[in-house]
Amino acid sequence: METRILHKDHLVPLLRRLSRNYRLVAPVRNEYGDTLYSVIHDLDSARIDLDQQPQGSLKPFFFPQSEVLCQYALDRNHDGGQTRYAFYPQLPENRPTLYFGVRSCDMMAVMYMDLIFFQSRGQDIYYARHRENAVFITIGCNHPFPNCFCNATRTGPFLEHGYDLQLTDIGEQYFVETGRARGRKIVEAWSWFFSTAGERERRAQFQAALEARGLFSSLVHVDLAIKLLEEGDEPTAVFTELSRRCQDCGGCAFICPTCTCFNIHDQPRTDDSGERVRTWDACTFRGFTRMCGDHNPVDVETQRVRKRFLHKLLHDVRHHGRTSCMGCGRCVGMCFGGVDMIRFITMMCQYEAAQETGE
Ligand code: SF4
Ligand code: SF4
Repeated sequence: METRILHKDHLVPLLRRLSRNYRLVAPVRNEYGDTLYSVIHDLDSARIDLDQQPQGSLKPFFFPQSEVLCQYALDRNHDGGQTRYAFYPQLPENRPTLYFGVRSCDMMAVMYMDLIFFQSRGQDIYYARHRENAVFITIGCNHPFPNCFCNATRTGPFLEHGYDLQLTDIGEQYFVETGRARGRKIVEAWSWFFSTAGERERRAQFQAALEARGLFSSLVHVDLAIKLLEEGDEPTAVFTELSRRCQDCGGCAFICPTCTCFNIHDQPRTDDSGERVRTWDACTFRGFTRMCGDHNPVDVETQRVRKRFLHKLLHDVRHHGRTSCMGCGRCVGMCFGGVDMIRFITMMCQYEAAQETGE
């Protein structure tokens, strides 16, 4: 793997050059003090913020919260004189986009979405359009944020693969690791912004990565939770308790970088035309499993959150060999009922321990 040095003073000039060829997305602090991955239109006025965890993930850029899939209209002149609907696909614009300052967990979440939208459900042409021509410059987390547990999900705080370029803050400079071919092309095309990394910088990077692993404040037993679920130890009492606390808001699924459930509905625009729209859905919603005749096979009072946690920690391990929790901790800050991944894993482990001791 090639390594380089990028002086911090050269970052904005480099991004300025890159913005000629790419739409630029980065964590930006907005006027309300929130840091969100945002499209940058003007580098001079945008406040790129690499100190906070972006409140949202990259999910909306690849899988928008609401997306028109096609338009439809009544076709009265169809051959044979029959009236039918004609559908006109609306593919999203394919724009080369550079995602800068991406956290390791969010990069891993994009790779998880690739599994879902490219493999599990066949090729999703809408996702593919957003995903094509995307370049990722990630940044390792020297100081994991309070709710982060990516060390336990093995999705950070630094990446071993998946990035085009990975930066590590080593003081006045960024240590730059080159991953995929698109990253190499950037370094080659703008080589005067980069210098060769020496032994001192390599040591600084190693030290930063080592120290970061010791700075997590949450100890989350992800592997133990997976093992218990694999053994069939479903913590029914925990599901019941957490389901009662869930208020059906969908916030945990919407903030989660890997929740990809959706609904599709037709939105009429006139009497004989409209749009077919895909929107985010959430398994914690009461209506998620509701069927014809108002029958619901899931008891929403006691099992509302069960599907969510089993999906992340059991089903995805079985289907994809890994959890779909990236340890970003965002659901911890989101849920006002305290129903989040850390809470679930902690309660489950305590519950199992109590079962064993008979307490
Ligand atoms: S954020 Fe909390 S209250 Fe809202 S749906 Fe998720 S678990 Fe339920
Ligand atoms: S379940 Fe929570 S911690 Fe895990 S990826 Fe989703 S939002 Fe992040």
